[in-house]
Amino acid sequence: MVSATGTDARTLAWEVAATVCDPEIPVLTIADLGILRAVEVRGGHVGVTITPTYSGCPAMDTIRDDLTLALSAAGFAEVEVSLTLSPAWTTDWMSDDGKRKLTEYGIAPPSGRAAARGPIRVEIAVKCPRCGSLSTRMVSRFGSTSCKALYECRACLEPFDHFKVH
Ligand SMILES: [Zn+2]
Repeated sequence: MVSATGTDARTLAWEVAATVCDPEIPVLTIADLGILRAVEVRGGHVGVTITPTYSGCPAMDTIRDDLTLALSAAGFAEVEVSLTLSPAWTTDWMSDDGKRKLTEYGIAPPSGRAAARGPIRVEIAVKCPRCGSLSTRMVSRFGSTSCKALYECRACLEPFDHFKVH
């Protein structure tokens, strides 16, 4: 049972919460994605705040269950997961480590920064995660999930998912 209050318990809770993976992209943890916003510990009670990657993302229910399971297993008696929609999640919150893992998984990470763009979103060249070529083209705005677009590489001719800047 975790009964300590203070930095140690909070660090433990954060570390446990940070191991929970995104069910759609199992190589990425919710910390890599930047979904994990805050962890607070009071006695055996832990409160976790997450921001969904996009509204209505069904993965959030799985993430909530996984957080509750992981933190209960770590000894926290009471786990409360809350969602916050504001400020809205953006791909800018994805860590560099997360982008690297995404590439290794075969998905082109979001390119550029959402915050740096004007009202018109201009897609800059998307790099092929397999061969690194910038000669790629979008095949479909929607890949395996709505947060990804389907691309095709002109160099190695392989199709791949691109995690859209959002
Ligand atoms: Zn390629």
